[in-house]
Amino acid sequence: MNPIVVIGSGLAGFNTVKEFRKLDKETPVVVLTADDGRNYSKPMLSTGFTKDKTADQLAMATPEQVAEQFNVTVRTGVHVAGIDTDKQRVLLPDDHLDYSALVLALGADTWTPPLEGDAVGEVFSVNDLMDYARFRQALDGKKSVTILGGGLIGCEFANDLSNGGFQVNLVEPLGRCLPMLLPEAASAAVGRGLESLGVTFHFGPLAKAVHHDREGAGLVTELSDGTHLKSDLVLSAIGLRPRIDIAKDAGLRTNRGILTDRTLRTSADNVYALGDCAEVEGHVLPYVLPLMAGARALAKTLAGEPTPVSYGVMPVTIKTPACPVVVCPPPEELDGEWEVQADGNDVQALFRDKEGALRGYALTGEAVKEKLKLNKELPALMP
Ligand code: FAD
Repeated sequence: MNPIVVIGSGLAGFNTVKEFRKLDKETPVVVLTADDGRNYSKPMLSTGFTKDKTADQLAMATPEQVAEQFNVTVRTGVHVAGIDTDKQRVLLPDDHLDYSALVLALGADTWTPPLEGDAVGEVFSVNDLMDYARFRQALDGKKSVTILGGGLIGCEFANDLSNGGFQVNLVEPLGRCLPMLLPEAASAAVGRGLESLGVTFHFGPLAKAVHHDREGAGLVTELSDGTHLKSDLVLSAIGLRPRIDIAKDAGLRTNRGILTDRTLRTSADNVYALGDCAEVEGHVLPYVLPLMAGARALAKTLAGEPTPVSYGVMPVTIKTPACPVVVCPPPEELDGEWEVQADGNDVQALFRDKEGALRGYALTGEAVKEKLKLNKELPALMP
């Protein structure tokens, strides 16, 4: 019998394997991964200095340990080149592998805008454990970092690097912290929290170029308003895009992510997708809670009991201890308004629809304590 093949060894891939093995101990499973296959929790990458953890300390298991624990084969450093869904075959650089079912757990790619300058190749992004190891090594003996992007990843790194003793510049063209997730009053609270650690914001301009500093050893980031920011390193935290190319090339239906129904089934027979690469009935949710729900449902489906995934309330905790944040964004394009109560950095913002029903919230500072109460009031995202 051909194995179940899982492409990806991130939280989506490994949790699917873990949940599946609770139900089926025998069916052969092969995990293929382009990276080194160590099991780690990606959210920990942006708390490395605060928790004082090197890349090796963040790795919870080697691929050999995962293979033994779950009775699966893990093939590392394998970049899947394509899929032939008619032959039920994964195409590898010099080989191929036939599957009985295929799970795409491909994650998302970092996206950096086109930058000019002779040091563009030295801009870091941190999207897996190997990136993190390289970044930590490059930071050794350095003092300052310019971060491009003030979303979840940019703000978390700004807090963490400040905790590690680095001077941080943060560039955010949309003019405030977490602009896509928070209403203005909550963004301002996070901004003040990070400023209290010494983070310097450059709100408004875009990063245009990154050059080597002719007068020193570091880098110069040139902004669209003419500002030149000197720092030892530059970290891009601008955005993530679901990895859809393999699926698209194989003729699977894609939109922002790889399209699936509620059983995580793609448009091809016996091919499933979950995690950051997937768009599940219109939802692209690049967070841990949705992929865990997906892994549990998909494990049952793979074990022979087709099971739709349910998404309850999906709050996201943003790891900025200088100003704690919990947000449950309202559904995209829902008509409604934010009601904001603010007391210093303690902000409670409630998003109500036209009928006055609570549909989302953003909490900062002491107001994060309201999370559980509000979760009870919110409707499930996909019951
Ligand atoms: P990934 O972990 O990216 O795994 C993708 C896998 O696919 C990798 O193993 C890769 O090698 C493999 N792959 C891709 N293409 C190929 C190919 N062609 N061939 C072979 N293998 C391939 N979420 C939260 O809910 N809370 C948080 O606090 C939080 N903090 C975060 C902090 C940071 C710094 C980052 C970057 C993300 C954070 N997230 C957080 C998001 C969360 O970590 C992700 O949603 C989750 O880890 C995605 O898991 P995944 O398995 O879908 O993707």
